Amino acid sequence: MTINQIISQFKENRPKADTTMIQLAFEFAQKAHADQKRKNGEPYIQHSLHTAFVLTQIKADLETVVAGLLHDIPEDTEYTLADIEKNFGEEVADLVEGITKLSKIKYRGIERYSESLRKMFLAMAKDLRVILIKFADRLHNLRTLESLPLEKRLRIAKETLEIYAPIAGLLGVFRLKWQLEDICFKHLYPEEYKKLEYKYEVEKKYEHNQYIQKTKNILGAKLKEAKIPFQITSRFKHLYGIYLKMQKKDRKFAEIYDVFAMRVVVPSIADCYKTLGIIHSLWRPNPSRFKDYIAVPKPNGYRALHTTVYGLESKSCEFQIRTKEMDEQAKFGIAAHWYYKAKGSVSINQPGWVKEVLKIQKDTEDTLDFIKQIKFDVFHDRIFVFTPKGDVFDLPKGSTPIDFAYYVHSDIGNQAVGAMVNDKIATLDQGLKNGDLVEIIREKKRKGPSRDWLKIVKTATARNKIKQNLRNSMLDNIKKFIPKI
Ligand code: MN
Repeated sequence: MTINQIISQFKENRPKADTTMIQLAFEFAQKAHADQKRKNGEPYIQHSLHTAFVLTQIKADLETVVAGLLHDIPEDTEYTLADIEKNFGEEVADLVEGITKLSKIKYRGIERYSESLRKMFLAMAKDLRVILIKFADRLHNLRTLESLPLEKRLRIAKETLEIYAPIAGLLGVFRLKWQLEDICFKHLYPEEYKKLEYKYEVEKKYEHNQYIQKTKNILGAKLKEAKIPFQITSRFKHLYGIYLKMQKKDRKFAEIYDVFAMRVVVPSIADCYKTLGIIHSLWRPNPSRFKDYIAVPKPNGYRALHTTVYGLESKSCEFQIRTKEMDEQAKFGIAAHWYYKAKGSVSINQPGWVKEVLKIQKDTEDTLDFIKQIKFDVFHDRIFVFTPKGDVFDLPKGSTPIDFAYYVHSDIGNQAVGAMVNDKIATLDQGLKNGDLVEIIREKKRKGPSRDWLKIVKTATARNKIKQNLRNSMLDNIKKFIPKI
């Protein structure tokens, strides 16, 4: 890896940017890490370069890439944070400081899991870009994991799978999430990984590719006729995802892998719906598998049209149809938000807190002000609450265990009778705090929510679900009085 590769990748997204600072950061890092080597014998600077390169791939901004090049300097060399601030300014120094602090969080197994997560969120609250650098750093460390002793290798892989990958998902950086997961999978379950990889690469690949190619040709011809420019790709290899599905649903590899999946990227939203029409006129759709996430985006902001049709040879074939912007937001998550903000085309369907971040960014020219604002406005009135399994829910401040229960699942909300907050008995109307670990006590026979809960809950989600349930049970009661004919 060379600095020129990084600069040219960076310029691909931002052709007019002045990249002098990237060059200078490289020279500084090279000097600082001069006689250091990685465990695998490579010069240390390679690690800094690879970290920065991943950041340019997810379209991170200049300061983030510069901080990526410098991220290990205060911890591993004789140069200090003050040297970095003197040469590269306060913003870069703050990012590097964030990384240095984050690296002091040591993973101590599942019992300290929520504590580690909490600290990560605290770091994110300061500046989300810190977490992006940490992801890039971790990805390169994982790629060179072979040279470490087994015990350390397993610890790092486990920590990544349990902490870093879920956060990448929460931020919508799915491509990174899948890459992290597949590498960890390989180290933690080498046998299962090998088996799946063999099936994927050897047994099925040829047959699979042929099928996809035929489908592409047919659809491609129709799209050309309709004068819609398009790009069709097939599924990203994600062995850990296949493994999880096999475990969860106890299904065979072929059942999961033989569901053919393709992604069609077209210029505009109108084109998305036109493409959907074309696909449905070619192959019969399965109506229960159609989802319009453009009209109704997923809570994490994900947008696309999904449809499953009985394709060639009547085999199930899933299409995801989206615009380029939607595609990049799904792949790069929060990093893409910054990129599209810079290009002046911010889309409106984002998770609540991302929308807030973007709004503040729009109103604030000064970056430091922006960071301060985010800290107070966005993370100030959002709390992150954990399930005993370590899943994280992002709720407005003042939310109660009832809100939390409905966020997890309607049934859990409807059957809630009490709660444990941080292992202590709590009432259902108690206000939750950032980092609380909440367990809902359920009574399976409970018919549904109490009307009084409407006065307690803070979120629209919980309120709507409660109302819906009350309405349904009222209808059930009325039906009892209607004589059967
Ligand atoms: Mn590092």
